Amino acid sequence: MKQSDFDVIVVGGGHAGVEAVHAAARLGVRVALVTMKPSDIGVMSCNPAFGGLGKGHLIREVDALDGVIGRAADLSGIQYRLLNRRKGPAVQGPRLQSDRDLFRRASQRMLRARPGITPIFGEVVDLVMGTDRRVGGVMLADGSSIRAQQTIVTTGTFLGGLIHIGQKQIKAGRLGDAAAEGLGARLDDMGLGRSRLKTGTPPRLRSTTIAWDVVDEQLGDAEPVMLSFRNTRPIQRQVACGITHTNSQTHEIIARNLEQSAMYSGRIDGKGPRYCPSIEDKVVRFEEKTSHQIFLEPEGLASDLVYPNGISTSLPEAVQDDYVRSIKGLESAEIVQYGYAIEYDYIDPRGLNRTLAAKNVHGLYLAGQINGTTGYEEAAAQGLVAGLNAALAVKGQDPIPLARSNSYIGVMIDDLTTRGVTEPYRMFTSRAEFRLSLRCDNADLRLTEMGHASGAISEARWTAFNEKRSRIDDIRTKLRSEKPSVAEIEGLGLETGAAGRQRTTLNLLLVPQIDRGVVAQLSKAMSDASKADVDQVYAEELYRSYEDRQKRDVLKLEKDEALPIPRAINFDEIGSLSGELRSKLSQARPETIGQASRIEGMTPAGLIAVLAHVRKLERQRVG
Ligand code: FAD
Repeated sequence: MKQSDFDVIVVGGGHAGVEAVHAAARLGVRVALVTMKPSDIGVMSCNPAFGGLGKGHLIREVDALDGVIGRAADLSGIQYRLLNRRKGPAVQGPRLQSDRDLFRRASQRMLRARPGITPIFGEVVDLVMGTDRRVGGVMLADGSSIRAQQTIVTTGTFLGGLIHIGQKQIKAGRLGDAAAEGLGARLDDMGLGRSRLKTGTPPRLRSTTIAWDVVDEQLGDAEPVMLSFRNTRPIQRQVACGITHTNSQTHEIIARNLEQSAMYSGRIDGKGPRYCPSIEDKVVRFEEKTSHQIFLEPEGLASDLVYPNGISTSLPEAVQDDYVRSIKGLESAEIVQYGYAIEYDYIDPRGLNRTLAAKNVHGLYLAGQINGTTGYEEAAAQGLVAGLNAALAVKGQDPIPLARSNSYIGVMIDDLTTRGVTEPYRMFTSRAEFRLSLRCDNADLRLTEMGHASGAISEARWTAFNEKRSRIDDIRTKLRSEKPSVAEIEGLGLETGAAGRQRTTLNLLLVPQIDRGVVAQLSKAMSDASKADVDQVYAEELYRSYEDRQKRDVLKLEKDEALPIPRAINFDEIGSLSGELRSKLSQARPETIGQASRIEGMTPAGLIAVLAHVRKLERQRVG
């Protein structure tokens, strides 16, 4: 391909890339997806699962904005589990076990079905640079170039990727895929800081060589909860996973061979995810534990591979054989692909603004693992943000207003762009200040209207959303007006409440000790409605009083957020700030007072000094 002309180019067909391409195309701009090869699109590099706490929230939010990941995951879901099912809706997270091949095929189908997307295969080795620090497109390894107004780079673990298995080192983006060498130097030239991180993956086992009859069985939920708001029940056949454990012999083999582990012999510089430790890490850090749980997760309905979740490693092949075979049920297990660690470059996300566009270069966005995150869900959410904002920029429209107060996506983008990362960043519910209102169940009620205003929501979803919203309003109104008589309430063995206060069926629904089936006997509204709709009304009413308080906090935060810091500000001019804070502010270049307040080490006095300086600049500008 010689010269082309697109509105947006997306480099990389992983989770960030797929979402970015689809989001931009939903807004009606012309998009090129440039990735190494056709089979890359929608590949899951590591575990065959989506969602969970925090990550499930991100998927629901991407789905609420009509993204790909939730629907493609449901098309591949072979076991569903709602985490924290017994706890309140605010801390629940939907998760599913995915058929790797079905997910990839579903993602590819969804891209093919969307008009306006042109796939181009090859390695991007450089960016086309204009005169005014403007990126005008990409250069491919075959010497050709492709031009566009906006370019989104989503190259995952491929920049400077280096795989470690024991002493062996292989230059690769992931096992079997070449690393990307050219692009990093260009990003360096632009002054976007580059550092190293690492992650790891376990060996893959052949299913037929596992003694399934001696390991525990883990079944999915009897009432599965879907990842996408568009789906109501599983599409694929559901399967069980297995559970087994490491033992003292496993730990002894690992401890004896630690110096052969790439992670422990000092050969890896990058920092890894603390909360997703390798088995070597677990044996060293939790020395007192004699056993760790391992989930044996099938990789697909037609696949003979099993992903042993919990034993990622960078030990040599022979040691992996030994320790795997010391585990109950795995005594004869055949390793089809050995585990490995990968070290890769990431770009300091503090060089990006909240649209995920580079601050000091025009027409360039970065999204996904390249920004120091880990996980499919984090990548997809960033891809969505970059794709929407790049397309909105092409159309001359305002960016989509995702913020800490309305979404986990907003929390993540704010964390990345103001605080940066020191280890691979993954989403946790504890990162959000407003988690009682940022729930999985209400992601559509929070975001679909916003997506519609930006033009990102299909007609079919918009219609389904409005129908749902009016059903919920209708059920709520009816539950508030249904007032069963004292005799009816007592007849079912329930307490009537304080004298003179007649209880509504909504009041009864919210009493934790009262079985919902019993309330349904008193409520026509409930018996006429679907369980999902009643669940939704229940969750909203349950958190209503907390939400009122949170709304006040959100207003305060938004007031701060709304106070912009001029781009031209020179933080070195603020004499009362410590040198450290001046340098952190100069590096992060916060766009608002809210962002400045969250910079690591920021003090109340420091913030007041910044605020006073911003006001002074404003007075000078006006006067
Ligand atoms: P990727 O999915 O890596 O996609 C990058 C895409 O860019 C690929 O399609 C590639 O071909 C393409 N590309 C790269 N460079 C170029 C170029 N120059 N030109 C054209 N195309 C290019 N996440 C977890 O949550 N838990 C885990 O335990 C976990 N373990 C992992 C273990 C390993 C070994 C790896 C590799 C990843 C692991 N991850 C894990 C991370 C998860 O896979 C990623 O976070 C996620 O896939 C990132 O998505 P992405 O779209 O940013 O990048």
